[in-house]
Amino acid sequence: MTSVPRFNVSARYRKDESDEMVSGIRGNVGRSESMRTGASVDSHDSVGGGSTGNGGSGGPGSNVRLGFANLPDQMHRKAVKKGFNFTLMVVGESGLGKSTLISSLFQQDLYKDRELGSATERVNKTTEIDKRQIELDEKGVKLRLTVVDTPGFNDAINCQDCWRPIEDYIDNTFEQYFKDECGLNRKNIVDHRVHCCLYFVSPCGHGLRPIDVELMRRLHSKVNIVPIIARADTLTQAELRDLKERVLADLDRHKIQTYRMPDTDSDDDEETRRQESDIRACIPFAVIGSNCVVESADTGRRTRGRQYPWGVVEVENPKHCDFAKLRIFLLGTHMQDLKDITKEVHYENYRAKYITERMSKRKGAVRDDFETRKSKNTTEANFEAIVDTEGLLKEKEDEIRRMQQMLQQLQQQQQSSASTAATVPTSVSAASAAGDASGHAAAAAVAASNSGSASAAGVPAASANGQ
Ligand code: GDP
Repeated sequence: MTSVPRFNVSARYRKDESDEMVSGIRGNVGRSESMRTGASVDSHDSVGGGSTGNGGSGGPGSNVRLGFANLPDQMHRKAVKKGFNFTLMVVGESGLGKSTLISSLFQQDLYKDRELGSATERVNKTTEIDKRQIELDEKGVKLRLTVVDTPGFNDAINCQDCWRPIEDYIDNTFEQYFKDECGLNRKNIVDHRVHCCLYFVSPCGHGLRPIDVELMRRLHSKVNIVPIIARADTLTQAELRDLKERVLADLDRHKIQTYRMPDTDSDDDEETRRQESDIRACIPFAVIGSNCVVESADTGRRTRGRQYPWGVVEVENPKHCDFAKLRIFLLGTHMQDLKDITKEVHYENYRAKYITERMSKRKGAVRDDFETRKSKNTTEANFEAIVDTEGLLKEKEDEIRRMQQMLQQLQQQQQSSASTAATVPTSVSAASAAGDASGHAAAAAVAASNSGSASAAGVPAASANGQ
């Protein structure tokens, strides 16, 4: 694990709330006895247990606690124990400050070892995928962060298809996740899906360039795009305002859907609403990155910034750029929503498309098969039934194959434990017992699978009869 940075991202998670949560957990320990007996009673309840106030226990408006109010605490503890993961992609041409921004955001230099190619090398360079992982820890909450950089994008003279490796990468992560979900070991799936893509727009242009539009159009239904105006210190305030407007207009004109922050909840406090509306108002985020610490001209504080002959620009100063808001948005307030949208919208889209395509491919193959066999009695209805059956059979075959592999592995394990047992006589009975047990378990799994396939195999027989 790399060194542990400390963030000062307050966001919605304020001290008083977390303290309350901790004291809530402690408080519950003392209540466990009453919970076991069915219900716990609020401290302000009467000793008589519900004879006052809102009426008898369990009645409408009763103060009796059943215990499920602790569910959020249970989930909180479980989630913290498990840790979180987040995958961030950065896209933009070389030199826009992607790696510097990542270092500024996470306060670590992830790209110490990076070598910049010469101009001649970059002329023919294709887009690469560079994936780095770090583990961060803040107040005991662990975050496994993966940063996917795309060096080479838009660097070559001929940029045709330079978006393809990026699009393929995102598709592959979805495909991998889909396969893992259909596999046997669903419990330990590693999620490589990209939760957010920071798209770096050049400060030198007059809005989005054709290559930006091309890539964003391909990605917007697959990943949460968050547009960034890079190197904002190279623009005056008026130029920056103008560029932001142009970028938003271009996105609108080309119907590109970037990540949309959810509306604030009616029960959110005033501070949260203000913070969210400030963040919303500054998209696309105009950012400045820096790898060094400078002394602030106003306060004399040492802070990340860029020193110029005429003064200092501070990365975290909200008057100088939107970096602080971007960090609150990304790490403090919207990380979970970015993950939820990835799972519930982008991945679901992929999954639905994948299954539909697979089904239509299968239908096409079966139809071809029929046509070659010149089956005269096939109606549309039993054609659909056969397609379904073929699908079922294929899935069962895959399952059996996986079971057989598992059985083989178990047999190998059994053999190796038997040979260990032969060398250490005292462990003979235990090893063989374990081996037998695992062998039986696998055999039972295969038998179950076979019986499944037998029932599936019964379907084509019926439909074949129907022909
Ligand atoms: P990448 O190729 O997109 O990863 O860009 P780098 O992060 O390697 O930055 C390229 C150059 O731009 C370096 O010399 C950085 O110091 C400089 N740079 C990075 N961020 C900024 C910024 O916000 N403003 C200015 N003026 N220069 C920056």
